[in-house]
Amino acid sequence: GRADLDCDVLVLGGGPGGYSAAFRAADLGLSVVIVERYAQLGGVCLNVGCIPSKALLHVASVMDEVAHLKAAGIDFGAPQVHIDQLRGHKDKVVGKLTGGLAQMAKMRKVTIVRGYGSFVGTNQLAVEETTGSGQEKTGAKKVVQFKRAIIAAGSQAVRLPFMPEDPRIVDSTGALALAGVPKRMLILGGGIIGLEMGTVYSTLGARLDVVEMLDGLMQGADRDLVKVWQKMNAPRFDHVMLKTRTVGARATDAGIEVSFESADGGAAPAPQTYDLVLQAVGRSPNGKKIGAEKAGVAVTDRGFINVDIQMRTNVPHIFAIGDIIGQPMLAHKAVHEGHVAAEVIAGELLGDEKLAKAAFNARVIPSVAYTDPEVAWVGLTEDQAKAQGVKITKGLFPWAASGRAIANGRDEGFTKLLFDETTHRIVGGGIVGTHAGDMIGEVALAIEMGADSVDIGATIHPHPTLGESIGMAAEVAHGSCTDVP
Ligand code: FAD
Repeated sequence: GRADLDCDVLVLGGGPGGYSAAFRAADLGLSVVIVERYAQLGGVCLNVGCIPSKALLHVASVMDEVAHLKAAGIDFGAPQVHIDQLRGHKDKVVGKLTGGLAQMAKMRKVTIVRGYGSFVGTNQLAVEETTGSGQEKTGAKKVVQFKRAIIAAGSQAVRLPFMPEDPRIVDSTGALALAGVPKRMLILGGGIIGLEMGTVYSTLGARLDVVEMLDGLMQGADRDLVKVWQKMNAPRFDHVMLKTRTVGARATDAGIEVSFESADGGAAPAPQTYDLVLQAVGRSPNGKKIGAEKAGVAVTDRGFINVDIQMRTNVPHIFAIGDIIGQPMLAHKAVHEGHVAAEVIAGELLGDEKLAKAAFNARVIPSVAYTDPEVAWVGLTEDQAKAQGVKITKGLFPWAASGRAIANGRDEGFTKLLFDETTHRIVGGGIVGTHAGDMIGEVALAIEMGADSVDIGATIHPHPTLGESIGMAAEVAHGSCTDVP
């Protein structure tokens, strides 16, 4: 059919993957259209994910820090929480960033079509236009014709089928809306998102329970790291229910009554009643909602779209990036994938052979739980090394020996680096402690560059900093590698 708009590259979805791809493609000289159903660019990450959660976590960590100061002779008294103002602060943070994105799109002459997009052919996408702050349809339709497409439609929170419809049962988006502070809150799913939101609510005054099917919280991280977080955070929780399934929920006047079952045949914990239940049991990709079949793009049963290292789907001129192509569902992964897709496309359309060979070949993608303390890890974990039979040398530096950590009154953490036993090259690392997330990038860089324990240990880190612990951990490992020159 006839098209209303024509472009080199259509980007479906304006999240971190989508806007990064669009901006790179525009910078390389291509005409770009972003189709996004919401009023703002930024996707989940900026609007209802990474950024608002960190705005609230920052406030929570300052509150906790101030409480710690009591031991140092400084007492500010009990905090007064003005929830409307706090919500306003968070919204302002988000607005600053999404406003910035809109300007950057304008500067690059990237066209934004506001609406719900669905493929109608191999080179066309139909958009049902939306308006307002949500996604109310206006009834108007636009057809966009494209030479290449990048699917960046992201993911959404999973809902348990037996959960009743009730404002006291929320997903992460609902929790970030910060309607109020509950007395008793259940975090359903012991992953990063649930534990971050739990940290915020507990500092604001809520008592927490957490329920997790598996045998530990914060899966993916080594248990020694998680243990430090868990010990510090135990006072926030009334019940930590591991190896436990949530099997039912009933809305009552007193709250949401939730029932549990042991996941390994043990005794079931007693049912509990909560003022707020946060469902944080994972996210599912939006692959089945974009008319992919009309373009011939294959979607898996679970809704993911498979791609090669150039981000190409089974249809050679259609690419996909971000949460929709698989784990880990992280913004920094989506951004890098977006750049690759844009470069490959620009290379092909502009006849630049070098660009056309762009590929995603990052060795590692860091993970961070922005809890208090933070838990960060990258590359091989100790558990994985064990499972894969990789022989490693470990260098562990306890923060109890870090001048800065002690000066900060926060010496519970440690820095751990893992080196290949024969090459002494770094293969992974984990940090637990305040600002761990800000530090893990150095470990990722070392892995990307193939650094060994001498390279890291001999790098002069400023004193006294928490980052010093990375050099120290390398020296510890080096000391135990007898055959290192
Ligand atoms: P998304 O951000 O999901 O963007 C997809 C966009 O596509 C959305 O704006 C959506 O409206 C739009 N869209 C979808 N379908 C259509 C359609 N048919 N038509 C038009 N538009 C459509 N990651 C981190 O790295 N660090 C963090 O600290 C972090 N914290 C998080 C905290 C929370 C509470 C949550 C929920 C997530 C967090 N994440 C974090 C994950 C991060 O938000 C995602 O990995 C990231 O947003 C994925 O980017 P994306 O571009 O793939 O998709």
